[in-house]
Amino acid sequence: MNKLIVKKFGGTSVANAERIEVVAELIVKSVEEGNQVAVVLSAMGESTDELINLSKDINPNPNLREYDALVSTGEQISVALLAMALQKRNIKGKSYTAYQLGIRTNSMHSRARILDVKVDKIKEEISKGIVPVITGFQGMNDEGDITTLGRGGSDTTGVALAVALEAKECQIYTDVDGVFTTDPRLYNKARLLKKITFEEMLELSSMGAKVLQLRAVEYASKYQMPIRVLSSFRAGEGTLIEEEEESMERPIVSGISSIDTEAKLTIRGVPDIPGVAAKILSPVSEAGIDVDVIVQNISADNTTDFTFTVNEEDAEAAEKILLDMSNSFGGGLVEVDRDIAKISIVGRGMRAHAGIASKMFQTLADQEINILMITTSEIKISVVIKRDCMKDAIVCLHDAFDLDKELD
Ligand code: ADP
Ligand code: ASP
Ligand code: MG
Repeated sequence: MNKLIVKKFGGTSVANAERIEVVAELIVKSVEEGNQVAVVLSAMGESTDELINLSKDINPNPNLREYDALVSTGEQISVALLAMALQKRNIKGKSYTAYQLGIRTNSMHSRARILDVKVDKIKEEISKGIVPVITGFQGMNDEGDITTLGRGGSDTTGVALAVALEAKECQIYTDVDGVFTTDPRLYNKARLLKKITFEEMLELSSMGAKVLQLRAVEYASKYQMPIRVLSSFRAGEGTLIEEEEESMERPIVSGISSIDTEAKLTIRGVPDIPGVAAKILSPVSEAGIDVDVIVQNISADNTTDFTFTVNEEDAEAAEKILLDMSNSFGGGLVEVDRDIAKISIVGRGMRAHAGIASKMFQTLADQEINILMITTSEIKISVVIKRDCMKDAIVCLHDAFDLDKELD
């Protein structure tokens, strides 16, 4: 029987020496229960943020090779400390960096993708009773340079390792009890989900639920690796994320995600001719800027207003691109609105139910929350609204769709 579990612990779970001792105890318990364990760690507490701020003190736009060399150091500290805490408990803990293991990525510094993970060495170690403790978030490219996987990237390391080791489950330990119907820090009536499908978790993560990095869910879904999200602070079963089974309930709405770190850009008076959308968005994507919601409105005079959202950090660069373009089009106005938030409702049951969108819009209207943009997919409806309405929107939608109540 497969007894191998990959356990990943996030920053809050290893924030200080005391927490590292707690994590060591959790691992001892799992080993005593007969499991083989490989561990992946994040950096302690806020240390990644601190490293990023340090780099910005030197240069607001640092060289990304050096940025990765710097921010990857946080994880080296936590793995060494946990290995020591395990050794103190007579468990053969041994720390590894991604470099030592051979976690190979592409060369997109600061947001690299894992290409493959060499596990021969740790497989052998595990068979000898060693518990490998591996740095999350980092890899190396073909030049041998250190890369990092984007914020929250330790989740992806955990899943990639679980896949490569053919583990039975990847357990992601964090500071909440599992995946909730919405961020429990934003609404105290959020309900812990026992199970959720990969498909729904993909939408929730891509729409802002930072409890799991989107790439980690994509990776797990591709290789059918079950993920369990659970608390390192309190005992519990957490949430199992897995492939849909016939017998599973199909809630109309499973959860609500929100993002308040995007900005909305509009270029007005664009000629309404074929190829314009591509002309606007090509230079934006060539600059490495990800575009999210897109809306195009046609006005009476054969021009259109073109609006899209980007990460707030990219707003300035995107604005410059639009201003250049606007000049070449003959001077339409460019506007930037940073005061926005995006709320998304996600559920597989939407496929079989009409009227979910109108219920969402009516609920927001009843609260006098104005909708600025709308986008939908088969199992998701997103709206962009004013940022100060975000919390009210989550609360009223959570209540309207009875998300605090279990399905009968
Ligand atoms: P870690 O440091 O363990 O990786 P993160 O801060 O990345 O933890 O993710 C955990 C946080 O995700 C929680 O503290 C919670 O505020 C937030 N979160 C957002 N949406 C959800 C959700 N639907 N369910 C649970 N947590 C959520
Ligand atoms: N330490 C990294 C971050 O803060 C990776 C992670 O925690 O998942 O983003
Ligand atoms: Mg995280």
